[in-house]
Amino acid sequence: MTQDSLGARVVPVLVPMPAEAPYSYQVPPGMDVVPGSIVRVPLGPREVAGIVWDGEGGGVDARKLRPIAEVFDCPPVTDRMRRFVEWVAGYTLAAPGMVARMILRVPTAFDPEPDIDGLILTNKHPDRITPARAKVLSTVEEHGEGLAWTRSGLAHAAGVSLTVVDGLAAQGVFEKVQIPARPVVAEPDPEYAAPTLSENQEDAAQALRLRVNDDTFSVSLIDGVTGSGKTEVYFEAIAAALKAGKQVLVLVPEIALTQAFLDRFHDRFGAKPAEWHSDLAPRMRERVWRQVAEGRVRVVAGARSALFLPFKDLGLIVVDEEHDPAYKQEDRVFYNARDMAVVQGQLGNFPVVLASATPSVESRVNATSGRYGLVSLPARFAEAALPSIRAVDMRKAPPARGNFLSPVLIDAMRESVERGEQALLFLNRRGYAPLTLCRVCGHRFQCPQCSSWLVEHRFRGQLICHHCGYHEPKPEACPECGTLDHLVACGPGVERIAEEVDAAFPDARTIVLSSDMLGGTKRLRLELEAIAKGEADIVIGTQLVAKGHNFPSMTMVGVVDGDLGLANGDPRAAERTFQLLSQVTGRAGRTGKASRGLIQTYQPDHPVMRALVSGNSEAFYAQEIAERRRGHLPPFGRLAAIIVSGETKAEAEGHARALRRVAPDSDLIDILGPAEAPLAMIAGRHRFRLLIQGERKADIQTYIRTLLAAGPKPRGSLRVQVDIDPQSF
Ligand code: ADP
Ligand code: ZN
Repeated sequence: MTQDSLGARVVPVLVPMPAEAPYSYQVPPGMDVVPGSIVRVPLGPREVAGIVWDGEGGGVDARKLRPIAEVFDCPPVTDRMRRFVEWVAGYTLAAPGMVARMILRVPTAFDPEPDIDGLILTNKHPDRITPARAKVLSTVEEHGEGLAWTRSGLAHAAGVSLTVVDGLAAQGVFEKVQIPARPVVAEPDPEYAAPTLSENQEDAAQALRLRVNDDTFSVSLIDGVTGSGKTEVYFEAIAAALKAGKQVLVLVPEIALTQAFLDRFHDRFGAKPAEWHSDLAPRMRERVWRQVAEGRVRVVAGARSALFLPFKDLGLIVVDEEHDPAYKQEDRVFYNARDMAVVQGQLGNFPVVLASATPSVESRVNATSGRYGLVSLPARFAEAALPSIRAVDMRKAPPARGNFLSPVLIDAMRESVERGEQALLFLNRRGYAPLTLCRVCGHRFQCPQCSSWLVEHRFRGQLICHHCGYHEPKPEACPECGTLDHLVACGPGVERIAEEVDAAFPDARTIVLSSDMLGGTKRLRLELEAIAKGEADIVIGTQLVAKGHNFPSMTMVGVVDGDLGLANGDPRAAERTFQLLSQVTGRAGRTGKASRGLIQTYQPDHPVMRALVSGNSEAFYAQEIAERRRGHLPPFGRLAAIIVSGETKAEAEGHARALRRVAPDSDLIDILGPAEAPLAMIAGRHRFRLLIQGERKADIQTYIRTLLAAGPKPRGSLRVQVDIDPQSF
């Protein structure tokens, strides 16, 4: 901070804008700001919330600068979080202001929650005692006389009307005090219901407790099959952190659907964690943000954006299902929450725990090399056995004409249903059919704004684009040749599988689950609960049924199209498919009943199918790792994508070529392309991609920064995005 000759201070303030550096503001006399203070500042014609940054305000005349309008009455953003913002910006090449924006997303949380009026007993002898008044006094005595009560809380606890409490108050029985607003969640108790762990689990838990008590940066990977008790084990790490007085963040993919997780946490700790995700009501968001900053919320379970909550004293981050692609954000700031969790641990000097039944290649390599500690849980808990997995060779056991389920699968479903157990069919495709074509002229229905087919959603009578949301009613005649009633649906989506199941099992109770179903998250939660309670015989679902749920009587899982994810030419395709199918088939047999998984495939000899069927993933992972090593791909090399998009193909391609021409020469870095991006057009924007591939020791951020600075500035509709560690390559 600088001070000019007249004593006015100048401070840098990071505002939520795509600006590369903080802006300077004048601190009006008498205003008290420190690095991290959240302030309201003028920006052009508006006012925005910003964060007072570190360092000098920069030799400017304070009188020429606009003054800070207000300092919010909330805890300053910690030094750790400010370093985190800088780190994320430096790594992802996003503007620091855009990273800071993720902290500042809850503007109204910056004002403190108003205190509540409370009552404390000071005089036990009112003028007149009635039975109702006696009840109030004895209630207060039972709970300890020093406790502050709200009016309504006391009336409720004593079982009397508010007027009784008010009458006592009028007689000076109570002293009025201010009590802080109620916490959003109760305080979790690390000793509440500690489980008896198996020997294996206890070893694992002990390794993690030691890490937590070390109170220094480390990363541990819990590698354990589904149902081995990974959750139970990392709960012990959480207990240790709570005992040490620290806050804990648990990242989970798709938090909105993990009611079961919250309940389990409650069973273990006697209180729920605070939730953090995009479905949270705005008022609740504010309160959680505020109470996390004040250190009153001890444990948060959240989606990736929870990484940007202003924890006061974070002591542990757990990343559950660490391999999950949902941790990657590909919007504005492109970041992987798993990787950034590790960075936070490093900056804050605390342990990070990653958990998965199918760890990512990256984490496996780090565990093998000793960079990460490895904690293995090789068997399911208690007598629960893993399902036996079989590949159904679709060439040998094809479905009936026009159908998609092999007789082998139908028979297995029937056996489960007849025993009163549940069967799950998994198909990672929403809607009725992924492609509609005209049988007469061959016309295919394509999205006018994207390079993708329109998916028929028969229930809604619509053809929908899954990339941009474009939709149109399904016509009766072909728009190309005009022929009536000759449009055919090609391939299955879950709605179509449901139709086939209804025909084969007319009496079964069937539930279809997909992320676009009517009723949203609330309805999904209800349906998931219903399934867990056994209120369905057959469940048909997209990948949201794959994750984390515990369905006690599910004994059969059928994968409708095991080859679906393998076809897209992406070098991560095999890993992804293996992870997803392991997870889906892992929904079966979680409570000791014999169970099985059947995977329909045209490639039963594919390494992914072999690994799934044999239950031995070592050979598969070894091959994946060897391929990454050979190709200098992450984690053995560095990779980034530069995506150029624009309203015309010529503009986008031209700009990408211009960038390519100014690419610096480097021994350590290659640049490939431009080529059309895997989805060449999205929402009317044409997309071209440059790939940057470097040795591990290459500094690809500096390379890209230099390249972008040397190239032409994007004008008009053009936009340039950088994706470090892209998901698909
Ligand atoms: P994972 O996270 O590896 O899939 P979970 O932690 O969900 O495994 O455990 C699977 C099931 O086994 C759960 O129902 C869990 O409650 C139960 N379980 C695991 N460990 C124990 C234990 N030590 N005591 C009692 N139940 C356990
Ligand atoms: Zn579209």
